[in-house]
Amino acid sequence: MKSTMMQVPLSTNQILERAGRYFGTSDVMGRRPDKSIYQRSYAEVYRRARQLAQALREKAGIAPGEAVATISWNHAWHLECYFGIPAAAAVLHTINLRLTPEEIAYIMVDAGDRLLIIDDVLLPVWEKVRPLLRQPPRVVVVPFGGAALPGGYESFEDFIADDAIAYQYPVQDENEAVGMCYTSGTTGRPKGVVYSHRSMMLHAITGCIPDIFGIAGRDKILVVTPMFHANAWALPFSALMVGADLILPGPHMGGDDLLELIERSQATIAVGVPTIWAMLLQSMEATVSTRPLALAKGFRMLVGGAPMPAVMIERFAKFGINVVHGWGMTETSPIGSFTIIKTKHDALPPEQQYALRAMQGVAAPFVDMRITNARSEEQPWDGVSTGEVQVRGPWISGSYHNAPDHDPEKFTADGWLRTGDIATINAEGYMRIVDRSKDLIKSGGEWISSIELENLALKHPAVAEAAVVAIAHPKWDERPLVIVVTRPGMELDGSTLRAFMAPHLARFQVPDDFEFVESIPRTATGKFLKNTLRDLYRHRQSITPG
Ligand code: ADP
Repeated sequence: MKSTMMQVPLSTNQILERAGRYFGTSDVMGRRPDKSIYQRSYAEVYRRARQLAQALREKAGIAPGEAVATISWNHAWHLECYFGIPAAAAVLHTINLRLTPEEIAYIMVDAGDRLLIIDDVLLPVWEKVRPLLRQPPRVVVVPFGGAALPGGYESFEDFIADDAIAYQYPVQDENEAVGMCYTSGTTGRPKGVVYSHRSMMLHAITGCIPDIFGIAGRDKILVVTPMFHANAWALPFSALMVGADLILPGPHMGGDDLLELIERSQATIAVGVPTIWAMLLQSMEATVSTRPLALAKGFRMLVGGAPMPAVMIERFAKFGINVVHGWGMTETSPIGSFTIIKTKHDALPPEQQYALRAMQGVAAPFVDMRITNARSEEQPWDGVSTGEVQVRGPWISGSYHNAPDHDPEKFTADGWLRTGDIATINAEGYMRIVDRSKDLIKSGGEWISSIELENLALKHPAVAEAAVVAIAHPKWDERPLVIVVTRPGMELDGSTLRAFMAPHLARFQVPDDFEFVESIPRTATGKFLKNTLRDLYRHRQSITPG
């Protein structure tokens, strides 16, 4: 039987229209590089995004399906690009501003970027990329820092100046591209993941499910996750769909800056990676010794992108803050799984609840998940058997831009994405990441999870941050090196930390090698740069007895 439903393609333009029509008084609040605060209503964002779309088509001659790049912090102009570029039927290509000039040049050529929108304060990045391009794109500069533009550059404000009251969105199929993001390329060249209107819309709706992000119109969402990374978890789309306010921190992501912004804006949700939240936690703990925190009622935090240690969840709980933990990747748009706390879990003792929240959780609706061993055999959901996490679903990438249709390293023959994450799944379907396959440490033929050691080290009160990587050992091949940043004013040495960790580990897992450092290098998205750490300690030999 044929359905009687209308065939209406899903499009992010529907969100833009809805925001303009119903939520014109909701707004984005942001911080500029000089830390001053600005506000912009969704009525303005709506008007300006459409002006941008019109300018892209009429002034720049951007054709449907062409990529338009952004190199920008999280701010209102970037939000306008999120909607204005797709409204021109073009493809929003957000570029990670911390990539090397060579990487940026490579992905701009690979994406075929026809125009670049870049922050004035990031022009030095562009100056290094431009000489590497044979055909540099047209450049439009966002007055984010506000200083006068250097000669020869076109301003965003001039570019979008014409009114677009009569602007008509081009008609598009819902499977056309809306945006693209490149994976960080920790192995090989960065790879382009291309999202469709359909995938983005389904993902944005899913983000509003109470057990996932639970975005509602009354929310004020602090988006610390960079807008150049996995569409900032599609939160800009979820937020404008329901009329929730956005708070965009610009380049200021230190703990004190974020705490100040959370209190000032009365944010109800803050979204970011664990390393950023570790800094916020330190600021909260330092502040509370002088005055009570002024958080909005029900303030909660969404975290993902890297494992969230149970001990951090517990420390936030002391402030009455609920931490909602999820797992995903650029290829999964990014929602893959979320830790749902069921009514029956309320009866668990607190430590077990924190441990549950530290798991990566159950697959999101419409996402299928399995774990398989090296022979591609599916592993049981018993909470013990490990395997590679594989997923498929309507917002999971099935290939890469400009790459062969089938890459067996990344996709299985039966159409699942190979994530490279090693995990267990328990009988209830809760997934727990053991490690990324490339971060596991193979010691004497036995695997040691870097995540498990990091989480354990973090339980020591003097440890602020801990990252674990493999170093060489003549007999055991690899041994774990624990790299530690201590909390301000606290002292710790390797043998004390070893003694603290040992009772919780099997003998072969107990680390003997420790390094105390001022800071641990991170990716642009705040994750530990394990490749850099491995390089840094490449020549170090483990002291574990043979
Ligand atoms: P990259 O880190 O390479 O820049 P992604 O942001 O796509 O690229 O990272 C995805 C990876 O991050 C996942 O494959 C997984 O290893 C890790 N990850 C994401 N969320 C979590 C989480 N909640 N717990 C543990 N690891 C996570």
